[in-house]
Amino acid sequence: MIIVMKQKISKELTEAVEARVRELGYEPHVIHGEKRDVVGAVGDERGKMVLQSIESMSGVEKVVPILKPYKLASLEVCPEPSKVELAPGLFIGGEELIVMAGPCAVENEEQIIETAKAVKLAGAKVLRGGAFKPRTSPYSFQGLEEEGLKLLCKAREITGLPIITEVVNPRDVELVAQYADILQVGARNMQNFALLKMLGKLDKPILLKRGMSATIQEFLMSAEYILAEGNRRVVLCERGIRTFETATRNTLDLSAVPVLKGQTHLPVVIDPSHATGHVSLVPSMSYASVAAGCDGLIIEVHPDPEKAASDGPQSLRPEAFADMMKKLKAFAEVADRTLPNA
Ligand code: PEP
Ligand code: MN
Repeated sequence: MIIVMKQKISKELTEAVEARVRELGYEPHVIHGEKRDVVGAVGDERGKMVLQSIESMSGVEKVVPILKPYKLASLEVCPEPSKVELAPGLFIGGEELIVMAGPCAVENEEQIIETAKAVKLAGAKVLRGGAFKPRTSPYSFQGLEEEGLKLLCKAREITGLPIITEVVNPRDVELVAQYADILQVGARNMQNFALLKMLGKLDKPILLKRGMSATIQEFLMSAEYILAEGNRRVVLCERGIRTFETATRNTLDLSAVPVLKGQTHLPVVIDPSHATGHVSLVPSMSYASVAAGCDGLIIEVHPDPEKAASDGPQSLRPEAFADMMKKLKAFAEVADRTLPNA
């Protein structure tokens, strides 16, 4: 249920509503809007009609049911787009298009630092790099683990770029959170509910990737798992879905951007690298993503793609990335976005 408060009321009235929601066995989530507060009451869907009695409390304008199965992720609860703080002073979901870039996996100190410097120079605002890699084959490179996290931190110290890295296993959440600014949930883990619940308890932004066979509704239900635990800093990432087509690694579902924008206030990022699987397709799909209305991009860049331990064929060289960023700036402007420093 959504409890819509009247305009210009004292905060004590909202607090009284929160307390009553709790008494009735539901979890209140307050959203302070520009004009008024809204309290989302989430919990067991059965028996939610008891919440209707709140309508008679002072300061309450109306109590309405949330129709979507995802609640906190929906535009019903929060009609304005959310700006998510990725690092102190760096927001996604506003006018600025945020580009995250870096190698698929952290391989060694020289590789990550060289890449970090290059992507920063080209205008990226976040450095990506996997330390724990979810590989299809158990015999493929699985990542440097904690050593990789330490190297990412070194790159952050040198460049000032915040770092995003994937957490694959619930038992590593604490470790990864000690080092990373943003934690990534990979496509293969979108429905790892134990992992999502743990990430919901963190005070760190989460980039949630869409599962390769997940519907938009399933994607939003997974975001809801994180939000329901109290973590509001969730960013969605479309990275291509499985279809019958084999000419590309996955099929980039670009329509997911406007569809998501019509259903959720959460920012949406596109990963054209995993979506296409080939460098030659990354620039055009990046421009198209901006035209479709995405809030950011996450792109694989490697100084020597032929020698990359993973995803070399889809990794741009730093020069190609810089060139793409310059062209992207023009597309961003047409889409009413800014891309500073590119
Ligand atoms: C990655 O970002 O390197 C990755 C493994 O992505 P995905 O989970 O989208 O396959
Ligand atoms: Mn990769």
